[in-house]
Parts: sequence; C-alpha cells; structure tokens
Amino acid sequence: MTARWNESRIRELVQRLEDFRRSCRVTTLAEEQETSRSPFRLLVACVISLRTKDEVTAEASRRLFEIAPTPNHLAELEEKQIAGAIYPAGFYNTKAAQLKQIGRIIRDDFDDEVPASEADLLSMPGVGRKTANLVLGLGFGIPAICVDTHVHRISNRLGFVSTNTPEQTERALMEVLPRDLWVPINDLLVTFGQNRCHPTSPRCTNCQLEDLCPRIGVTRSR
Ligand code: SF4
Repeated sequence: MTARWNESRIRELVQRLEDFRRSCRVTTLAEEQETSRSPFRLLVACVISLRTKDEVTAEASRRLFEIAPTPNHLAELEEKQIAGAIYPAGFYNTKAAQLKQIGRIIRDDFDDEVPASEADLLSMPGVGRKTANLVLGLGFGIPAICVDTHVHRISNRLGFVSTNTPEQTERALMEVLPRDLWVPINDLLVTFGQNRCHPTSPRCTNCQLEDLCPRIGVTRSR
C-alpha cells in the first residue's frame, strides 16, 4: 500500500463515494444485478455496454431481454434480430454476432449456466478482463476488480496507482485495495466518473474528494 493511501483513508474515500452514489442515477449494470440477480443478463448487458452510453445500454438490454430471456433464445435468434434490438449500441453488428455465439456456448458447453470461471468467460467472443471480472464479482460474488475507463482514469488521478493500461491498474489495485472493496469499487468509480470526475474536464470545484485528491494528471477542470 502506498504511504498516502493507507486503509483508513481509502475507507474514508469509499464512504464519500457511497454517499455520492446515493444521489445519482443507478448505473445500468448495477441495476441489472440488483433486479435480476442473473449472471446471464449481467454478461449480456456488459457486452452491450462496451463503448456505449449507459442510457443506451439500458434500453438496448431491455429490448434484447424481451426477445431473448435465456441463452437458448439468444442462440436461436438471427444476428440481424439481435442487432436490431441493441441498435444504436456501439458496434451493434459485431456485438450481435458475439452475443449469438455467447448464447450458443452457454447453452451447449455449460448446460445453460454462465460459468463462474475467469478462463471460461475469457474464452467467449467479446469478453475481456473487464467483463469477466464484472460477472465474477457482481454475478457470483467472487472477489475481482473490474477496471474500465472510469476506474483506470480516477485511480490514477487519485494516486491509488500510477499505470498506463487497465490491466496494470487491475494488478496495482489488487495491492492497494482491501479485498472487500474489489467488487464495489467499480460501480462507485463508474458513477463518480459519469457524474463528477469526467474524462476531459472533471468538476473539481466542490468535489466530495477535493481534500483527498492530488489531481494527478488533471490539466483542465471546472
Ligand atoms: S478533485 Fe477533481 S480530479 Fe479529484 S476526484 Fe474530484 S473531480 Fe476528480
């Protein structure tokens, strides 16, 4: 653990992030987990969410689950039906092909159950470490840190880590964060990134973390 971020400061920061989250719209993936508690739906929504705005992910996921509530339904759909349901999610045609394959793999290779294994999840098309760790953590309660663009960016600004890639950030955060925070840190930082600590011009004035944050790498802010 770095000298600056000892455990009590990290827990203070997390407490403030939790307070902030209560004032915000719940993210699509967190809502999916809280309402359905289905690793399948979480996996599908996460694939749809890549390079896609959260509001678009929510609507695209809702439309797709209406016609594909199970892996078998997903496998049986035509790719163009899937693409039509998830449009305008980013790369909707590519994701449609991936999602059909994912449905088939879960149905045929894993007895209709999403596997609770990182290697098995990573073997599916369109599933990288971010998605695999999200499904392991939120879907199965297995400690894993899901590092997306928000987690990578804010962890560096805060000085939790000093890294160049999400993969490096994941490894570094495993050293810094207490294990019980590995799963919840994703949603806390995603919500904070969407509403306060934006990529190009973070809203630093009156930020809830202002006195804790060294603002590393921030050149422009509001
Ligand atoms: S002070 Fe600025 S850079 Fe630091 S967490 Fe807040 S918004 Fe982000």
